[in-house]
Amino acid sequence: MPRYDFRCRSCGATFELRRPMSQANAPALCPQGHEDTVKLLSTVAVTGTASGGGAAAPAPASGGGGCCGGGCCG
Ligand SMILES: [Zn+2]
Repeated sequence: MPRYDFRCRSCGATFELRRPMSQANAPALCPQGHEDTVKLLSTVAVTGTASGGGAAAPAPASGGGGCCGGGCCG
């Protein structure tokens, strides 16, 4: 699980949280209870592919048989 660094703008404290990537931009609460926090850019090296899980492979178009159009049926 990735680790994110936050800084509180109320008291200036920096803290880190471990949370899933889906919660990366969720607001974090300062250990002192402040809500005015900002996420810092961390230097965590992300290995592997960052698959967001959004790209689906295009389905092959089902070819319609144009049998009756070319005179093969009658
Ligand atoms: Zn604080």
